[in-house]
Amino acid sequence: MSVLECVKLDAGYSKGIPCLRGIDLTLDPGQITCLLGPNGAGKTTLLMALSGLLPRAAGEVRVDGHAVASGNPRQAVRSGMVLVPDDRALFRLLSTEQNLKLAVRERAGRRAALDTVLDRFPSLRRRLKVDAGRLSGGEQQMLAIGRAILQHPKVLLIDELSMGLAPVIVDEILEVLVALARDEGMAVVLVEQHVHLALAAADRASVLVHGRVVDQDDASAFRADPQRIERAYLGGG
Ligand code: ATP
Repeated sequence: MSVLECVKLDAGYSKGIPCLRGIDLTLDPGQITCLLGPNGAGKTTLLMALSGLLPRAAGEVRVDGHAVASGNPRQAVRSGMVLVPDDRALFRLLSTEQNLKLAVRERAGRRAALDTVLDRFPSLRRRLKVDAGRLSGGEQQMLAIGRAILQHPKVLLIDELSMGLAPVIVDEILEVLVALARDEGMAVVLVEQHVHLALAAADRASVLVHGRVVDQDDASAFRADPQRIERAYLGGG
């Protein structure tokens, strides 16, 4: 069964003017999909509508077969949909450790939970006492993803993974996401400007232009035809 089903989703910022129209997106457990498209295509808006931060104007979203209510971010998290926003939303004056601890409600098992994150991102272990605001960009992104993982996502949504990061760091983070998808069946929806890095890690890709999905296929099909995305941009306008 699919872990994420998004069917005919419309969403927008002003009533009656949807900037996303008829979005269909389906993901199996352990699959990584990337959302590609020019600036303003609606990629961030789609992540916001999936995670409940923005109400939907139409359409259905289900995680593991259970309906995710429109415009209800808490319920979306309880359903297993967790967003890493593009600003990473860390508590900058709290330490790495405190940021992680805040994501684990129960005291019992907190250390073991933190260890699962620190085993995935060993460089954070050396930075536990450092304020999040003083971490490097790559460490901040690792912390933001680590904190999201502590909420046991079935579907992890990541906006602008590589914003401000060197490609080698992006690669390292993508490798962790691939491992999490493989080992734990976590599905990932990734918004990423570096098309080649994203396609190398992803199983599927969707191209958004002007709020519509204009092309959608296995990532390998896009990798084999480098001009296909460009054609989708031009054709979808
Ligand atoms: P980018 O790569 O530039 O972030 P994107 O594909 O993520 O692009 P969105 O940010 O989702 O695109 O924007 C989609 C459309 O919604 C754009 O026309 C944008 O101007 C509009 N938009 C985005 N945020 C808001 C907002 N808070 N209020 C009103 N309109 C918005």
